[in-house]
Amino acid sequence: MRHIGFARLWLGTLLLLMAAGLALIWTLAPEAVAVHLYRQVARVESQNYAHRLVAGFENGARSFLLGQISPEDSRTLQTIATSERIYRLDLIDQSGRVFWSSVPEVIGQTNTPSDLHMALQSGKSFFERIHANEAEVSGRPAAPAEADDTDAQLDREVNHEILPLTLNGRIVGAIERYQDVTAVNAAWIDTIRWTFAVIGGLAGIAALFGVWRIHQASKQRLATMQAHVQTENAYLAEQVRVGREVRLLGEFNEWLQSSQSLDELYAMAKRFIGDMLPDVAGSIYVYSSTRDVLDGGCSWNGGVLHAHILPEECWGLRRGRTYVHAEGALTFRCAHAHDDAARNSICIPFLAHGETVGMMYLCLDDDLRAEDAANQHRLAQMCAERISLAIANVRMRDELQQQATRDVLTGLYNRRYLMDRLDRHAAHEADTPFAIVSIDVDHFKTFNDVYGHEGGDEVLRALGDLLGATCAGCEFACRLGGEEFMLVLPQLSADAALERAEAVRLAVLQLSVRHDGKTLPPVSVSIGVAHYSGSGDSLADVLREADEALYAAKSTGRNHVVAAQGARAVRPALIAAARNQAPLAASYPAPPA
Ligand code: GH3
Ligand code: MG
Ligand code: MG
Repeated sequence: MRHIGFARLWLGTLLLLMAAGLALIWTLAPEAVAVHLYRQVARVESQNYAHRLVAGFENGARSFLLGQISPEDSRTLQTIATSERIYRLDLIDQSGRVFWSSVPEVIGQTNTPSDLHMALQSGKSFFERIHANEAEVSGRPAAPAEADDTDAQLDREVNHEILPLTLNGRIVGAIERYQDVTAVNAAWIDTIRWTFAVIGGLAGIAALFGVWRIHQASKQRLATMQAHVQTENAYLAEQVRVGREVRLLGEFNEWLQSSQSLDELYAMAKRFIGDMLPDVAGSIYVYSSTRDVLDGGCSWNGGVLHAHILPEECWGLRRGRTYVHAEGALTFRCAHAHDDAARNSICIPFLAHGETVGMMYLCLDDDLRAEDAANQHRLAQMCAERISLAIANVRMRDELQQQATRDVLTGLYNRRYLMDRLDRHAAHEADTPFAIVSIDVDHFKTFNDVYGHEGGDEVLRALGDLLGATCAGCEFACRLGGEEFMLVLPQLSADAALERAEAVRLAVLQLSVRHDGKTLPPVSVSIGVAHYSGSGDSLADVLREADEALYAAKSTGRNHVVAAQGARAVRPALIAAARNQAPLAASYPAPPA
């Protein structure tokens, strides 16, 4: 707005200056111009005037050589003087003597002013404007009739001219006249004033138009500049936004790379996407391991999160590509989004290594401009690509971890995991007591021989399920290899461990395993129990003791529990009862033919 203020000030000053200039010109200039014009006219016309006048004389220009004119000429001159308001008309000969005048008193006088002298010498006419009344010019008092005439007393505009005359190229004399031009002068001044007024008006209009044009042009230039600045600013803001997005995406990716679990990944996605897409509510769903359902992972900016959704409830998952639902367009709302109020939503499936691992659901703010919505969509798509890979990586890591620490047949932990856990226990919880229960299937080779390896596998699998189910909290079961298992039972006393071992042994006897449409005979297990009190023995010692106890159980008839030396507090009755049961191997019936 400042420029308009300046323009107005500028315009005001200009108008003021113009008005002052015009007033000055109006007052002073016309008179000066009128005099100037008279002078110009005189320069051209006066010589002709003199010759025309003289041509009417009886003797023409020779009258000046003769120094007299005829009475007729004298009357004519008098008439001319009166009619042309010539206050004084002198005919002067070459010597400067007035030989005729409209004022008889001066006839015979010899004038010697330098103006006359100059005119007679050079032949150039003389012109001046004087302010005088008739009496002053004629040198005689005003006529009585005019004595009371105040106009006659006042100064008049009088042209004083000396017009030299030549005859045959020789200067023969001059005509001097004082002519009252007040009325003509006033008319001229009026005309000049009006001419000035018209010219001034036109100039003013032209100036105003010019100023208006300049003002318009500068306004236009300013608007163009403002638009340019706006474009520049928008471009700059866009660059800043893109820079921020690139930086955030880079950081997000880096964090995702280091995520070790889905929970960590969810926390990162919630934080970063919530920040990057402030106008978008969203949630993430990931396929469960069974792949028949997707588990709700996390949501941000108020996004609705269901515990589970079915793959067939999402058009994005069903079509295998990003699905945009917009109200008014020819699209259908996904079943999982039925409760959402958002008019525009996007489902972006997570695709990694050719597999769909999950889906991101986004609800766009209804007031979002189309351009911003497209931008958020683009950004969400980039986030989804990164999350897809991260989920696949977490899954792969889980699988590798699983493969490294789990036994394939039973799903229990393997020996490697056991050793890791015991090492960690030794390092961090060395003073925490725990019991080791070492389990070995009796005469399993015979069982395999009779029912086949696959039947044996079925038994091992069932045994794995049973042992896994007996563990609670931080207890765990593992398969050390072949038909050997182990339970690690932290915080358990030796007595409680023996009781648990006996319960396992009895449960194994009850195990009913079906294979190939038939129920396999039950198997028995021998069990050795060792206890680590939290100090003293090393872990290796405890394992060895458990092995020795198991060996003792085998060698003392199988199908019973033996406590290692460290676990003395065994209820004798329990062991005795166990000893009375024979191992089952001897009684494995042959399979039906
Ligand atoms: P004992 O009562 O002294 O333990 O006799 P055993 O036959 O169980 O012991 P042994 O060490 O002689 O035999 C172990 C058998 O376990 C040998 C092998 O056939 C069987 N076995 C080892 N691993 C597997 C497996 O993964 N699946 C099946 N079906 N059998 C296995
Ligand atoms: Mg065995
Ligand atoms: Mg064995």
